Amino acid sequence: MKTSFDYIVIGSGTGGAAVARRLHDAGAEVAVIEAGKSTFGVPEIEDPSQWFGLQTGAWDWGHHYTTTDRILGRDIPIPRGKGLGGSSATNAMMWYRGVPEDYARWDAVAPGWSWEDCLPAYKACETWEYGETALRGGSGPLEITRPDPHHPLTQSMLKGGAAMGLPVVDDPNGPEPFGVGLANFNIDRQGRRNTSANAYLEPIIASDRLNIFTKTLALSLIFQGDKATGVRVSGPDGELDLTAHSGVVLAAGALETPRLLMLSGIGAEAELARLGVPLKVKAEAIGQNFQDHPLLRALNFRATSPLGAMKGNGGGTLTIWKSDEALPQADLLAFPIQGRSAVPALWDHYTLDGDDVFAVGLGVMRSFSKGELRLTSADPTAPLDIQPNLLSDPRDLAALVSGVEFLMDMVASEGFDGYFKDYVAPLREDDIETFVRRSCSTFFHCCGTARMGAADDAPVSPQLGVKGVRGLWVADASVIPEIPACHTHAPVTMIGERAATFILEDA
Ligand SMILES: Cc1cc2nc3c(=O)[nH]c(=O)nc-3n(C[C@H](O)[C@H](O)[C@H](O)COP(=O)(O)OP(=O)(O)OC[C@H]3O[C@@H](n4cnc5c(N)ncnc54)[C@H](O)[C@@H]3O)c2cc1C
Repeated sequence: MKTSFDYIVIGSGTGGAAVARRLHDAGAEVAVIEAGKSTFGVPEIEDPSQWFGLQTGAWDWGHHYTTTDRILGRDIPIPRGKGLGGSSATNAMMWYRGVPEDYARWDAVAPGWSWEDCLPAYKACETWEYGETALRGGSGPLEITRPDPHHPLTQSMLKGGAAMGLPVVDDPNGPEPFGVGLANFNIDRQGRRNTSANAYLEPIIASDRLNIFTKTLALSLIFQGDKATGVRVSGPDGELDLTAHSGVVLAAGALETPRLLMLSGIGAEAELARLGVPLKVKAEAIGQNFQDHPLLRALNFRATSPLGAMKGNGGGTLTIWKSDEALPQADLLAFPIQGRSAVPALWDHYTLDGDDVFAVGLGVMRSFSKGELRLTSADPTAPLDIQPNLLSDPRDLAALVSGVEFLMDMVASEGFDGYFKDYVAPLREDDIETFVRRSCSTFFHCCGTARMGAADDAPVSPQLGVKGVRGLWVADASVIPEIPACHTHAPVTMIGERAATFILEDA
């Protein structure tokens, strides 16, 4: 078994698969360390309609958020995919890149991350089913498609949005993203989920310069002086040290990358002292700046007839609009669900039975609440203390209340004529703020725990290098300085693509 490589990439998920492929294609010998199993050919991963069931069990890490009174003391699991492809193998497959305003905020703290800077890498990620345009890629690894528009719920969402005065948009990743339109998905033309591992790693799986270690947990980084030279791992044959001549790329995701940094001595001084880990680089921001979009799961309504079998990922459209017309960009996003959908507290409170219930998920995407991630011990498998502080910023709560009211009006509009029968959760007479607190969950978009930035207090440089050491980069959702008003799979794929460019420029 080989134990020495040019680069070691920790994590085969969204960011890791992209960076590993691009480093490989530049001629490097790459090792990919993945804690989970292979996902290739696994039916429940390939079938988009089964995504929801992947959030618990063997394909997930089993993390939970620490609760607060703001969400009525409820438990919120925070799923993270475990297996080749990481969270891209278990996610809901929506592909939405956000708008230039999102990246202007990144560029303001990390120069070089404007929309114009990121667009070429975005185009390199994808093969858009309608071919290359000024904004879309035509020959990248990930196949991006639109869903079958004929589902009656899809049609009602399009007509309902229009009835509420929203523009019907051709493509949310096109020039006019705000309004209602068919979503984009990383689902291939045969209707199978296209994970980052399928897209980026499978085509080079036979290469002798790609070495994938599955069921192998990275425990800590190895340094010689200030240079990262390897990784200590625990695999099927026990513990082992792997060597990287050119460097190590952390792509373990926004929860595990800060853990690995801290376990390797890179973190806040007091935190490392508490954990008993010797300090290597003082980086107070590791684990801070935690962000996620609050998602209400979900508003439920009764349809006039049974819904039938779920198609695709069970969604179909994106509705993107402003909670307040004075805002500079849209802050709310809703999507339909071809069936009922509820957190346990809604099941306890409402009657959700019947095969005629459909749901609409609502997220505040331009969200402001921030939290932190802390280690409970230096054991690499110990539970994490993850406090997202959901709804701590009053703007997030106000936007969600406004969004619920909009959606309740929308289903009652003429756009839903013949489809909407009645309210299920919430009911018309309910207090909406209580409904928001009761149904608030995660949009699964955690990020920001090793943020990039030019300022000294940002632990990662705008070129994605960990400050204070050499030969160590981060290529995952951890580096996001401010959560974009979109889903995070597309942005992290783009980050993985750009990470390889920065690393190769540094070689
Ligand atoms: C249920 C769910 C639904 C979602 N839906 C959507 C959606 O529809 N659209 C969207 O855009 N985004 C969605 N997301 C979010 C999106 O998938 C993530 O933001 C993105 O995949 C994060 O990429 P990443 O590279 O940071 O981490 P990941 O893709 O999670 O990759 C991290 C990888 O590192 C591995 N790893 C971690 N620690 C170690 C270790 N110590 N040793 C070895 N390996 C390790 C993990 O097993 C994993 O494979 C969803 C996420 C989930 C979980």
